[in-house]
Amino acid sequence: MKKVLLVNPWIYDFSAYDFGIKPVGLLRIGQFLREKGTKVSLVDCMEGCRRSKDEYGFSKIRKEKIDKPDMLKDIERAYFRYGIPVSEFLNKISMISEIDEIYITSGMTYWYPGVHLAIKLLKERFNKTPITLGGIYATICHKHARLTSNADIIWKGSFFDKEYFCQSGFYPAYDLLLDKEILPIQLTTGCPFRCTYCASRMFSAKFEMKDPVNLFEEVMYYNRAFGTKSFVFYDDALAYRSSEGIKRFLRLIIASGAQFTFHTPNGLHARFIDEELSELFKKTNFRDLRISLETSDEGVQQFTGGKVSNNDLKLALRNLKEAGFAKKDLGVYILMGASYIDMEKTMDDIIFINSLGAKAILASYSPIPGTLDYKILVKNKIIKDNIDPLWHNKTIFSELLMPAYIRKAREIRRFTSNLNKT
Ligand code: SF4
Repeated sequence: MKKVLLVNPWIYDFSAYDFGIKPVGLLRIGQFLREKGTKVSLVDCMEGCRRSKDEYGFSKIRKEKIDKPDMLKDIERAYFRYGIPVSEFLNKISMISEIDEIYITSGMTYWYPGVHLAIKLLKERFNKTPITLGGIYATICHKHARLTSNADIIWKGSFFDKEYFCQSGFYPAYDLLLDKEILPIQLTTGCPFRCTYCASRMFSAKFEMKDPVNLFEEVMYYNRAFGTKSFVFYDDALAYRSSEGIKRFLRLIIASGAQFTFHTPNGLHARFIDEELSELFKKTNFRDLRISLETSDEGVQQFTGGKVSNNDLKLALRNLKEAGFAKKDLGVYILMGASYIDMEKTMDDIIFINSLGAKAILASYSPIPGTLDYKILVKNKIIKDNIDPLWHNKTIFSELLMPAYIRKAREIRRFTSNLNKT
């Protein structure tokens, strides 16, 4: 029988938090191979590393302080490897023999040192076994991965077409995970918008939706098989076409009497949150809802893609409050550090969100190759086209471009934290 090893590598970053992250694509491949008669095993560098869970079950991740790569030497922050100790990784792969193929995934582009380390160690252990690298870094920085990762095959984009995503009964191999308390689910792929800073279309060119009945059967299966009661939606546009999609799914949940909790860390489109959807969210235990605004500057809203207006947000929050949500469970994303968003006005954004009875959630900007923003930054010679992916890091990108950023960002964070408590 053919044997395949799946590997979820370390995160290398200045900071990281687990919002229910799981290597879904990798586990989907695992299930696909299993159905073809392959024996599949997993080495997950995040296994057993979740620490200090918060009230929603999200957590810090075990970390080790490590030397910064040379090009980050001047950044005055500690740099970490998140996940299991290297010795544990070596121990896990030393216990595996005769592997025919290895599949390794990748997350953020600037986490690539963790991917490269895993590939190096895997090559030392299984020197003739072909390694296929996929995921976000391999897609967005395909050339960099080809030239530097030492993987044998570099996969670009999604491994599966829509047929697989929409198929009933084809679930990621979550049984291979140790921690199944919170699991990711997805009703849709892609997004109908084209925001200038977003990479969504590189993974799914078109918006697609699976049958909500299939998703309902999927969550019920996870509940039966693993006892899972908490689910994180990975969708980019969950509320889009809600009458045929998410509303139908939530009605099925209500009818079943199941008591689950749901989370939307990716941010919802305010304009699609009507009264009915708000009520369904409340009845089905959505917690800490996240809605995307990015900025209250209406010129920038239009220029970056027109996915939301201030009025959309006002109506959405009004509907959600009428359905019973309190400030504690309503977070609105504000983008901080993009060159076209005046940081002086970010304070106004936060005051605006607070005036609507919600919390502001600050998201740091980072440029993603392939997006319109990135092309403009290159065209205006603000960044070089082939900058190392380490410079995409959201923690440092704006600091390097804007000398006043660190002081201003600290001020904004303190202000936001105080206002969110009121
Ligand atoms: S609406 Fe959200 S997911 Fe869609 S393109 Fe814009 S940022 Fe990306």
